[in-house]
Amino acid sequence: MTSNFPSRHIGPDAPAIERMLGALGYRTLDDLIDAAVPEQIRTRSPLNLPEGRDEHRVLAELRALAGRNRTRVQMIGQGYHDTITPAVLRRNMLENPAWYTAYTPYQPEISQGRLEALLTFQTLVEDLTALPVAGASLLDEATAVAEAVLLMRRANKSKGSVSVGRQTGRPTQPALNGRVLMDADCLPQTLAVVAGRTAPLGIKVELVDLHTQRPEDLGDDAFGLVIQSPGVSGGVREIEPWITAARDRGMLTTVAADLLALTLLKPPGEQGADIAVGSAQRFGVPLFYGGPHAGYMAVRAGLERMLPGRLVGVSVDAAGKPAYRLALQTREQHIRRDKATSNICTAQALLANVAAMYAVYHGPEGLRAIAERTHRHAATIAEGLRAAGHRLVHEHFFDTVTVHVPGRAQEIVARADAAGVNLRLVDADHVGVSCDECTDNEVVGKVLGAFGAEPVSDLCGYSHTNHSRALPAQLARTSPYLRHPVFHEHRSETAMMRFLRKLADYDLALDRTMIPLGSCTMKLNSAVEMEPISWPEFASIHPLAPAAQTEGYRQLIDDLETWLAEITGYDRVSLQPNAGSQGELAGLLAIHGYHAARGEHGRDICLIPGSAHGTNAASAVLAGLRVVVVATAPNGNIDLDDLRAKIGEHPDKIAAIMLTYPSTHGVYEADVRTVCDLVHEAGGQVYVDGANLNALVGLARPGRFGGDVSHLNLHKTFCIPHGGGGPGVGPVAVREHLAPFLPGDPGNPGSPGSPGSSQTGAPVSQANYGSAGILPITWAYLALMGPDGLTDATKTAVLAANYLARSLHEHYPVLYTGPGGLVAHECILDLREITRQTGVTAEDVAKRLIDFGFHAPTLSFPVNGTLMVEPTESEDRNELDRFVRAMVTIKREIDQVGAGVWPLEDSPPRQAPHTAEQVTADEWNLPYSRQTAAYPVPELRAAKYWPPVRRIDGVRGDRNLVCACPAPEAFAEVSS
Ligand SMILES: *Cc1c(COP(=O)(O)O)cnc(C)c1O
Repeated sequence: MTSNFPSRHIGPDAPAIERMLGALGYRTLDDLIDAAVPEQIRTRSPLNLPEGRDEHRVLAELRALAGRNRTRVQMIGQGYHDTITPAVLRRNMLENPAWYTAYTPYQPEISQGRLEALLTFQTLVEDLTALPVAGASLLDEATAVAEAVLLMRRANKSKGSVSVGRQTGRPTQPALNGRVLMDADCLPQTLAVVAGRTAPLGIKVELVDLHTQRPEDLGDDAFGLVIQSPGVSGGVREIEPWITAARDRGMLTTVAADLLALTLLKPPGEQGADIAVGSAQRFGVPLFYGGPHAGYMAVRAGLERMLPGRLVGVSVDAAGKPAYRLALQTREQHIRRDKATSNICTAQALLANVAAMYAVYHGPEGLRAIAERTHRHAATIAEGLRAAGHRLVHEHFFDTVTVHVPGRAQEIVARADAAGVNLRLVDADHVGVSCDECTDNEVVGKVLGAFGAEPVSDLCGYSHTNHSRALPAQLARTSPYLRHPVFHEHRSETAMMRFLRKLADYDLALDRTMIPLGSCTMKLNSAVEMEPISWPEFASIHPLAPAAQTEGYRQLIDDLETWLAEITGYDRVSLQPNAGSQGELAGLLAIHGYHAARGEHGRDICLIPGSAHGTNAASAVLAGLRVVVVATAPNGNIDLDDLRAKIGEHPDKIAAIMLTYPSTHGVYEADVRTVCDLVHEAGGQVYVDGANLNALVGLARPGRFGGDVSHLNLHKTFCIPHGGGGPGVGPVAVREHLAPFLPGDPGNPGSPGSPGSSQTGAPVSQANYGSAGILPITWAYLALMGPDGLTDATKTAVLAANYLARSLHEHYPVLYTGPGGLVAHECILDLREITRQTGVTAEDVAKRLIDFGFHAPTLSFPVNGTLMVEPTESEDRNELDRFVRAMVTIKREIDQVGAGVWPLEDSPPRQAPHTAEQVTADEWNLPYSRQTAAYPVPELRAAKYWPPVRRIDGVRGDRNLVCACPAPEAFAEVSS
């Protein structure tokens, strides 16, 4: 039996495909594909994957896999704590396509809801850490610490050299050496990730033991100090003397802090820390076997312009009304490239938003109550263990106690397991117990039983307020937090549900419109693929749970690695990277490791075509490589003469070329094999950025046409939703010779990252399988589609892009085409001549599309003044035609501007988007009608999206950086 799911996933049906082919002059889909895809890269053998199955079958198979995982009460801790996701958030946010199918909020006018939620996340982090500026999420805690180390390195120029060059034909120099001090009580995965990230940059890491050393004895030659608070052992220590000592010696300090503990403990900002980082996981986000979870970072004033990742700021719209937008976008990799503050692009927006709403729902007293209860249970366990004669490693703790049990650790952990509880096996003599929101008296009893201790009554050693003897008074938090009304106004479930609905209604996501974003592949994220991720057997597994409890997950991961290797033509796949950018880094580190293992240490140049995604150059710098840009030929392809010249200039220095295939110009380059051969002949490796794999699946395999390594974006080609800017998964796939250098296990440094392999490269995420919790989505997609469905999807994506290119070409020239005058899965519409003649810009067209209810295509990437359109296979012909109608209507408006009928500044494209408030106002002074403004095509009368704000002034928001929720009065002023 074959699956009928492909007909649900692929938008156009057979008659529609026939009509679209007709418009292009092809008889069959295969004729079109044969004309579009160069023979040089084509694979003719069908994908060797299991046949597609129907939805109910695939769900049953996933249930069986889930059934091979074992749920436990999770008390392992080590950076992961169980939490209760309020059902109102799970149903209305995590499982709601209005939230999870949204794109990154680059178009702020249609993203006010998720921007407001992210700003709430920033406010939450700023309040709890007592630092003024927090970013809108990082990928996880360990990488956030690594980013903080690099930030301290850049900000502290007094210790060691820092030089970052500019992107020219000459190599840039990523010299970033010096020393950083790390608290020995940091999470082990943090130490592993930091070691891997600092090594290629020549930064030395040195451990300090805050329990036994004294602040006075700190040396003065490091640029920074990282403290974990509380430490992984659970110890709560006085950190202020350390921060002061570090500052006195010219160092910056980062505190990796537990957000829940900060409701009770003095925050890093009040102790003089420069940076605070950590995880927001325990604010309502399931354990997910390691991820996705939101990392956070907050900085003191003066460092905000160096923050890695995205930052939401407040600006105003054309009417002067406060409006949210991504701030400091000029820092983004597309502009800064090898000078970017980091390579992070996709982050963890959806999970940050869940954490923000968890705080909104509980409010400050609710969070404090959860923290106190958690602490009380830990204190009760401590008391019971002491009474039974056990020694605790630390007297002061928040939620975690480490118990000294000479020679008995294994036995106690096994006893707890038998009682349904996972404890942390620290070593043969120590067991860790971490309490959390889910801990109750029954669990406390089980834990004490596992240690052979008597149950003790609750509250023992703890009197209700802050005077637990485990939390010394001088470390207690006295300052208030979360005083903004948003943390007080949505406490009933009714209010919360409506708040989430209100925010979602501000936004345009895939549940309302196609999101034709070139390079980002916004295809269907089907409900059946999403369902399993909230099953407890997937959602509540701790990443460090014993192997016997994770059989189902490991089978699923093994399947996925095998299938993705088959699809890409590579030999090995690692699912550890939790975004494309991290896959790039892992791939480049593998190349670096490979050259080093062969004694070729001098190979440090990474060739990157000018059209590459900005993350490529940023990742190369992080891998310790110098970037040399290769020019683009007039036809958009890599300029082979320039490539030869650049190789000639740097004999024996070429480490790699990073190319995107099909290129971001949206065409299949026929001479890609020549490019690969030239680089291989020069001793370099070929990195194929696989973000555009939607043009290749089933038709061509990068591992077979010359690539040595690729990353894929499961949140593009393989149906993981974008979440409004994350989560993502960026697997790295390699040929056999690079396999030993794939990421190792961060929880167990030096050990292989995948079962049965020998992959021991530097880890790039804090969890061995990165964002494991969302892998069932891709597993389901591949199982539902099967080899034929996947190949049909690719063919249809190519058809849809060509259909749009052909339909729009006479109105907006298509910049680049490949064989047969065809494009691949996306096309670039060139607005530059139109702009020259009329003044109307690509941005104006992007904003005017909002009035038609569309999300804009990719704006000005990879070529300024253009729009890159990628329809994907999931959009049916009606939606494609609706888009064409909108674009053609806008072109007519542009013609009116060109003809002088409407002055540019007062034309619909320049005034767009139009709000309901504006078109219903008593006053209307524009030269076109309100009807033209709001209903430029008649079908909008039946269903209309109204943007909540007019066009947003970006520059002003960057000049006056405001990155916290504004007081309600800010809005009142405008309406009065
Ligand atoms: C999206 C994209 C990336 C980066 O992926 P993230 O998951 O956002 O880090 C890299 N290269 C290309 C071509 C992309 O489109």
